[in-house]
This record gives sequence, C-alpha cells and structure tokens, in this order.
Amino acid sequence: MTEETEIKKSICAICEPFSLCGLDVHVKDGKVQKVEGTKENPHSLGQLCSK
Ligand code: SF4
Repeated sequence: MTEETEIKKSICAICEPFSLCGLDVHVKDGKVQKVEGTKENPHSLGQLCSK
C-alpha cells in the first residue's frame, strides 16, 4: 500500500549557533523524497544554502 506524502518540519543545524534554517522534509513510504526550505521560517524564509 502506498502512503500519502507527509511533510515533516525540521531544521538544518550545520551552522549552529549562527544559523538554523527551516526544512520541509517530504516523506513517503518511510523514505525522504525531497527537502525544501520552510517558507514561513522567519530566519531562512524558505532559502537553503548549497550545503
Ligand atoms: S541550510 Fe545552509 S546556511 Fe542554513 S543552517 Fe544549513 S548549512 Fe547553514
């Protein structure tokens, strides 16, 4: 059975304590399909760097 894609909210903490960027992690059948920046995050505004 195929599950619906779920968007799990997370953060990237590679640059902690200087930066914590919001992540929208798209998960389907227990596997990450894609990762996008969280538009409503007041710090990163949906942007992610190339790391
Ligand atoms: S997305 Fe880039 S800038 Fe933001 S915390 Fe992660 S590594 Fe740092």
